[in-house]
Parts: sequence; structure tokens; C-alpha cells
Amino acid sequence: MSYRIGVLLGDDIGLEVVPVAVEVATAAAEHAGATVDWQELPIGRAAYDTLGSTLPDGTLQTLQTLDGWVLGPIGHQAYPKTPKAINPHPILRKHFDLFANIRPAKSYPSLKSLHKDVDLVIFRENNEGFQPDRNMVAGSGEFRPTEDITLSMRVITRRACLNIARAAFKAALTRKKQVTAVHKDTVFKLGCGMFAEACKEVALEFPDVAFNEVMVDTMALKLVMAPQPFDVLVTTNMFGDILSDLAAGLVGGLGMAPALSAGPNHAMAQATHGSAPDIAGGGIANPYAMIMSVQMLFEWLGQRNQDRGLLAAATLIERAVSEIIAEGNALTPDLGGLSSTQEMGRAVTERVSFLEVAAL
Ligand code: NAD
Repeated sequence: MSYRIGVLLGDDIGLEVVPVAVEVATAAAEHAGATVDWQELPIGRAAYDTLGSTLPDGTLQTLQTLDGWVLGPIGHQAYPKTPKAINPHPILRKHFDLFANIRPAKSYPSLKSLHKDVDLVIFRENNEGFQPDRNMVAGSGEFRPTEDITLSMRVITRRACLNIARAAFKAALTRKKQVTAVHKDTVFKLGCGMFAEACKEVALEFPDVAFNEVMVDTMALKLVMAPQPFDVLVTTNMFGDILSDLAAGLVGGLGMAPALSAGPNHAMAQATHGSAPDIAGGGIANPYAMIMSVQMLFEWLGQRNQDRGLLAAATLIERAVSEIIAEGNALTPDLGGLSSTQEMGRAVTERVSFLEVAAL
């Protein structure tokens, strides 16, 4: 089977980490015998400057025809304030119903991190909740009826809660079989209450998976003090956004935080971090998050199509990254190394090609 995967560079460090991730993934696919046809598409500031829109129509239409895509970070805060310079990623998530934002946090023994032996994944509902740029069919979920009053709305639907809960429980079957629902139904009795009800309902469908609930404030405390017992966390949009940055902080920072947004028909590899304008152009951005986001995309496509070649490519990437990190000779400065983005990427690419596929 062959795959068509889009490449959207994004902004700032996206121009540095996305090509590196694609280079690693290309090597892994070739080595594992999987056929991937990469297709670069315009998005972000560069698309605005050349085509007059940060999300040109052609990009959306072409994505529909692809199996998945890689999206670099979007530096939307620096966009001109015009309707043609929108933040494109909420539109992509909504348009393709990418309801599950899957954000792992994993510590590596050789890297400096606040905690060792962390291996958890956050399933964050992606398309509604307390996110005013994506929770309404039209207009914003924030409005100001008078000069001195602002209302910000959270939207919770049973369908979205059930969808994200099912995705989390399914993933737990392949991990430590443990799901923790994170919410605050003690206060948000209706909104978080509906989320909790949905999680409990889905838990009954997965009797082999242990299930518990933790209030979001307590979860922040528990993650900082002792994150090791947690496996799969499932939560609503804003709580997931905040907790996943916190989880990244536990294991070495945002450069160590990959992510996948997945829906019924498409998936998008998009690291948790932003476009990091403070380090853009310096060649020091950590490519791990973007490389492992593409690894997650390969795994998602491989599982969906039961494609051993693509699954092998995903395993190759994971092994090569782990080995390069363990050896510590080609790491970016945020990980305590002296290497550039490209040097770290090249080391992973070379290791991918060196690993024995038959041994996987
Ligand atoms: P950020 O994630 O870009 O950066 C936060 C800090 O982490 C910075 O010090 C940065 O240098 C560091 N960092 C991030 N990625 C790194 C990497 N791969 N390697 C090493 N260090 C890394 O957050 P910000 O500065 O608040 O936002 C910058 C822009 O990105 C804004 O326009 C914001 O709106 C946007 N943003 C986009 C996304 C996304 O596209 N998913 C997410 C968050 C923020």
C-alpha cells in the first residue's frame, strides 16, 4: 500500500524541524519497504505573503484527498490582523473532525528531567470545550456585551465526550490498561458532569481497563509530584492543553512533546510546541517532538491499514531516536547537547537506515 502525506511547514521553527522530521520518516519508510509520497502544501505566513491567505483554498481541498499530513507549528500571534490571516490549525481540526489530540509524555533515562520513568499519554478532546476559536459553528465563543463584561463559553457535547473516551480506552488496551478521566464535576456539574458520565459509560465497554477519575486541580498536583502511576489521561480541551504542557515540562520541555490529532478518516502530525520565534532561524530547535509526531502518524496509518511496512517504519523511528538520545552525542542545546537541529536529525536518519528491519 502506498500513502500520500501532506507537508505543511508552518512558521518560524517549523521551517527547521518539519524538513528534518520528513527526512527521518522518508528514510524509515524506504528502509521498511513502505511507499510514501510527500506533498508540500502552502500554509501560514509564507502562504499569506505569496497567496494572500494563511489557509489557501487549494490546501484544504488537497488535504481531503491525502491519507494524513504533517503540520509545523503556527505562529499566528504574529499574523497581520486581517480575516485572511486566520490561525489555520483549529480550522483543520474542525474541518476534518480531528477530535482526538493525543499527546504523550515520556522520560528518557539519560536526559535531565524533573521525573524519571514517566510514560503517559493525554487524550485531549480537540474540537469544542473552552476554546472560543473552535467551539461555535459561526462566530467566536467569546463576546463582550458591554465594555466591562466578557463572556467566554465552553461547549460540551455528549458525542464528543464519548468519542474521546472511546479513543482513550482503545489506546489503553495497547498500554498499561489504565484510564484516568480528568475533569472537575464537583463544580462544573453539567459540563464536566456530562464528560464524566460519558467516560463512565465507555468504561463499561472496556472491562479489562482500570478506570478512575481525578479532579483537574488535583491532577496538576499529582503530575508534578508523582507522575509515574499514570498511563492514559482523558480530558476536555482546555484542561488537556494545559496539562500536556505541564507533562512536557516533566520530561524535558516542549521539544520533547510530540502529538497527533486524529479523526475518523484523517490524522495530522503536529507537535505540542508553538513556532518558538525566540529561537527561530538559529538551528537549535529540538526536532524530537516533530519527528515523533510523524512517527505517531505512521503508527496510526499502519494500524488502520494493518500495514506491517508502515508499522515497521514507525518502530524504526522510535528505536533510532531512543538510541541517539541514549548515546547523547547528537542532541540539541535544550537537551544539554551542542548539536544543531539538522545534526540531530541526520544522526537519527543515519541510525534509522542502519537498524535491522528483520529484527523488528
Ligand atoms: P512556544 O511553544 O513556541 O515556545 C515556548 C518556549 O519553548 C520558547 O522558549 C521556545 O523557544 C521553547 N520551544 C518550543 N519548541 C521548542 C523546540 N522544538 N526546541 C527547543 N525549544 C522549544 O510558545 P509561545 O512562545 O507561547 O508561542 C509562539 C507562537 O506559537 C505564538 O504565535 C503562538 O500563538 C503559537 N503557538 C502555536 C502552537 C501550535 O501551532 N500548535 C502551539 C502553541 C503556540
